[in-house]
This record gives sequence, C-alpha cells and structure tokens, in this order.
Amino acid sequence: MEYESVIGLEVHAQLLTKTKIFCGCSTEFGAPPNAHTCPVCLSIPGTLPVLNKKVVEFGMKMAIATHCRINEESVFARKNYFYPDLPKGYQISQYDLPLSENGYVEIEMAEGKRKIGLTRIHMEEDAGKLVHDEHAPFSYVDLNRGGMPLIEIVGEPDIRSPEEAAAYLRRLHEILVYLEICDGNMEEGSFRCDANVSLRPKGQEAFGTRVELKNMNSFRNVQRALEYEIKRQEYVLESGGKIVQETRLWNELQGVTLPMRSKEEVHDYRYFPDPDLGVLHIDQDWIDAIRRTLPELPLEKRERFVAEYHIPAYDAGVLTADKSLAEYYEAVVKACQKPKTAANWVMGDIMRLINDEKMDIKNCPISPASMGEMITLIEDGTISGKMAKDIFGEMYQTGKAPKTIIAAKGISQINDEESLVQAIDAVIQANAAQLEQYRSGKDKLFGFFIGQVMKMTQGKANPQVLNDLMRKKLDSPS
Ligand code: ADP
Ligand code: MG
Ligand code: ZN
Repeated sequence: MEYESVIGLEVHAQLLTKTKIFCGCSTEFGAPPNAHTCPVCLSIPGTLPVLNKKVVEFGMKMAIATHCRINEESVFARKNYFYPDLPKGYQISQYDLPLSENGYVEIEMAEGKRKIGLTRIHMEEDAGKLVHDEHAPFSYVDLNRGGMPLIEIVGEPDIRSPEEAAAYLRRLHEILVYLEICDGNMEEGSFRCDANVSLRPKGQEAFGTRVELKNMNSFRNVQRALEYEIKRQEYVLESGGKIVQETRLWNELQGVTLPMRSKEEVHDYRYFPDPDLGVLHIDQDWIDAIRRTLPELPLEKRERFVAEYHIPAYDAGVLTADKSLAEYYEAVVKACQKPKTAANWVMGDIMRLINDEKMDIKNCPISPASMGEMITLIEDGTISGKMAKDIFGEMYQTGKAPKTIIAAKGISQINDEESLVQAIDAVIQANAAQLEQYRSGKDKLFGFFIGQVMKMTQGKANPQVLNDLMRKKLDSPS
C-alpha cells in the first residue's frame, strides 16, 4: 500500500515585548529563578491580569504578514489543567474567538510554490519551568517564564512531507524575525514547534489518526522526527496495526519518537471565557496603523532584489534570508553600483567571515562603504582580485578603508602600459636563451616570462594588461 503523509504544525513564538502579557514583570532571559515575578504571574488569589497592548500589536503584525483576518472581537479563555508549573490551575489562552484566523504562507519547493494555510493565530501566556535535581527528592519551580507572552500559530494540515514542514517552519521563522517580534532562538525556546502527522492511503480523502510530536529544537530535528514517525506509522499500518492518537517525544540521541502520554481531548480542558479580562476590540483604524509599521517582508524583498538589481533568484534568496544581511548588501550596492559583484563578495567572503567568526553582520568590522570602495577599486583596475583578497583580510583586522590600506602599503596595481612594457623589455633582455627557446616552439615558456615580470613588480602588474602586452612582444619580434 502506498501512503501519503499529512502534516500540520503548531508553532509557539515568544514575543519580544519588554514586559509579560498580563503584568509588568520583565521578559529578560537568564535572570535568577523567580526574580521576574509578581503577585499576578505568581498567581496569588485576588490579583487581576491587565493585557499588555504591545502583545496585541505584535500578534496583529504577524496576522497581517500572513494574510490572516483579524477578528473585531476576540476573547481570552481559561484552559484548565493541573501541573506544578501552572499555579493558577489554568493557562490564559484564546479559544473560540482568537485574535486572527484564515491566513497562509507561501513556501517554495523544487516542484514550485505552494500555499500552506494558517487556521489561526492567538495570544496566550507561557507556563513556568520545572527544574529537576537528580540528587533531591523534589523539583523546583521557576516562574520567570510564567506569564511570558506567546503567540500560537496553528497551521492547516496542508503539508505533505517532512521537507515541506521544514520549509514552512523556516518561512514562519523568517517572517517573525523580520517583523522583530520574536528573536527566533529555537534552543532557548523562543520558537517552538509541535508537529502533528498522520498517514492515509494515496488517493483517500479522509485523514488518518494523528500523532503529535514534541521536543524538537531545530528545523533539522523537526524534519528527522517526522521522517522517523512516518516510517513508524507505515510499519504499524502495514503489519495490520492501528495508530493510537497520542503525544510522542522526539529523542534526538536515539533518533526515534517515544510515547509520552495519550492525547488529551479538548473537553478535558474545560475552556471558558476568562471573566477577569474583557472582550478585546480591534477596529479597522488600529489594524491600518499597524499595517503601516510593517517592514518589507522577505518574499517581497527577494522579488525586488531580482527586479531592481538583476541578480539571480538564488542570490536574492541567500541575501534576504537575514534582514541585516540584506541591508548590508544594499548599502554595498549603493556604494559601488555593481550589484552582481557586490552579491558575490557578500555571499562569499563576507558570509564566510561572519559564519567562521560566529559574528552578527551588524558587528562586521568591514563597513558596507569600505566593501563598496574595494569593489570600485577592483573594477577600475587599481587593484587585482588577488590583491583584493589580501586587502580584505587587513580590512577585517583593522577596520580600515581599502584606500587607506593601499596608500600605506603602496600596493596598487600597475596598469599603465609604459611601465609594463619597460619591465617586459628588461625581462626579455635578461633571458635571451629562454626567448630563443620560446620562439622555436616552446610555448610553455610564456608563463616563465609572465612570472619574471610579476617578480620584478612584486605581483603588482595588472595580469590582464601584462598578458596582452607580453603576447605582442614575444610573438611579433621587433
Ligand atoms: P490540539 O490542541 O489537540 O493540538 P489543534 O486543533 O490546536 O489541536 O491543532 C491541531 C494541529 O494538528 C493543526 O496544526 C492541524 O493542522 C493538525 N492536524 C489536525 N488533524 C490532523 C491529521 N489528521 N493529520 C495531521 N495533522 C493534523
Ligand atoms: Mg497542540
Ligand atoms: Zn509578574
């Protein structure tokens, strides 16, 4: 039997607001346990939540960027469950009237572009964190994370392969980071993903029973976990078994998914509107005002780069994957007016450098203006490509502009024909024997003559000009 996989992802993104969703506590990461808490996020009875307006605005930004409809009225609901990281006994989330619904994002696969639907984007608070100590007969509770602002992005089961799942996640991640509403750090948990997956016989309309996968902390692990789980489900079905609806944990070391618990049903949560928070009203003016704050999004930027700079789509994709990198690139182009050469340098030497040094492009000691100046110097023949590589290293070490480095070191290319002809003549005169051999057919000696001139000029001769002149001199004896 041939099966088709059906995948739907739920993404939790932690928002970059300064304070938590229902109190004024700081959202800063890495504080001592329970340092960022107050009676509200400690769930002391009698305290009341007050909604952080920025959380709503950040949620609206994501909703607009993903073509969702923003609901005029949305409602916070209590999701009830018992767990020690949740002292209220319920999580404030949204249920039947979420912030926004019905959007999509576009992914690009080898087969072409595809739209993946978004069911909803809603706001909710995070729970605290349990800290286990293997030497103690108890665990600790750290409530710094309690009340941190999240949006949950629920995707439609439109995804058909683990590769598509990874592409979809990358797209969401890219948009969140471009919007500057989430830092996207998967290891610290600012961008988390649960993956739902089921199989159905090819051609069948109805979905099969789904399994929910948790605990994948990288794009690669999401893909690997799904690949494993699809094989496992295939095996179960092929051997006549049934898929149980359950939550399974990805185990990275073993490369397998293991059962965690049977999946709760929605009624287990006893959702009801939170009476402590009123209905949230969002009018068109507010939506329009937020829409005007949106930056150019990655896909738009990509298309503009191709249209405006006439660079290949591939280059545009690499350059816009990171907003700061795209800004850097545009500044280089502005400085040199050579978009394709600029793309080559930024995607080559600059990216290699920041990857090797694990550096943010914003802190790159080579300014876009310097990079552009260097490209201009190559283009006008002042320096050769090889000299540029050396100067580039020095620019990185010292942060100096290329012209400054060239002036200090006296490294600039010799382009003028007169000086080069003088050097060529001198070399030919000094090597009469080789000249004789060359003229009697030993073509390989051409390289020898070039080498001699390069030695004489300490590598500064413009290779192109030198080659042409040398040919003329050697091949047409005067
Ligand atoms: P829950 O709260 O149980 O996680 P949600 O409705 O919030 O349920 O999330 C359901 C997620 O599972 C969505 O991302 C959806 O696309 C996906 N999903 C639903 N049905 C299936 C299915 N049969 N196979 C795969 N994914 C599914
Ligand atoms: Mg879920
Ligand atoms: Zn608080």
